[in-house]
Amino acid sequence: MSSISYFNYARSFSFIGPCFLAYLISCFAPALSFGRCIDAHIDLKQGDWRQPKHQTKKDLLKKHESKPTKLTIHFTGVRQVPKTTIQSKLRDLFYYSTRIKNEHKKKLWGDVPYHFYIDVHGKAAEGRSTEYPPDSNTKYQTDGHISIVVEGDDKSPFLPVQQEKLLAMMKALQDDFGIATNQVGIHKAYANTTCPGSAIQAFVEDYRSKQKDFVPDSTRCLAAPL
Ligand SMILES: [Zn+2]
Repeated sequence: MSSISYFNYARSFSFIGPCFLAYLISCFAPALSFGRCIDAHIDLKQGDWRQPKHQTKKDLLKKHESKPTKLTIHFTGVRQVPKTTIQSKLRDLFYYSTRIKNEHKKKLWGDVPYHFYIDVHGKAAEGRSTEYPPDSNTKYQTDGHISIVVEGDDKSPFLPVQQEKLLAMMKALQDDFGIATNQVGIHKAYANTTCPGSAIQAFVEDYRSKQKDFVPDSTRCLAAPL
């Protein structure tokens, strides 16, 4: 994210519980859009935070031109908010993404910009469908990228529960998409930004060093129970 906080635009949403239809859709349709290794690490599926007004605006989105080959890590760029639910954070981010234009974000997006969101408690939510490239306030070619955002800014601690979740998700997404370790990177490698801050940058660099011989395997999760 840019330094402009989407929480400035937060609206109060009442949580009315998951819609049964959305739940059914989340059980079947998105399973086709990415592999199953990541599923074990997702705490909130699409239907767990989207109300009818949070449906993806597909007319504003264009699918990846080819299979994603890059996994890119971000931070939200705003302070951590432990008392706000992850559902609210996704809904606020959706509002910012689809309703707000400003000097940094000049157009409306069709959905939250990131594919996966890790909150301050180490919970992960599924955001934008991986069928579509991410969006960004910064200029770079996002086609072919899968994105994970971690809640916090450079003044926030990069918490052990967040590190644990990020580590598991990076490996799972490498397996699901066949992404090589040297293609796991950070936003600032592609654009003029400080994202994702020094702590996450160091974590990703360490990961790349330790996992350099990791061979992605899309069948690794086939034996896992449904
Ligand atoms: Zn970023």
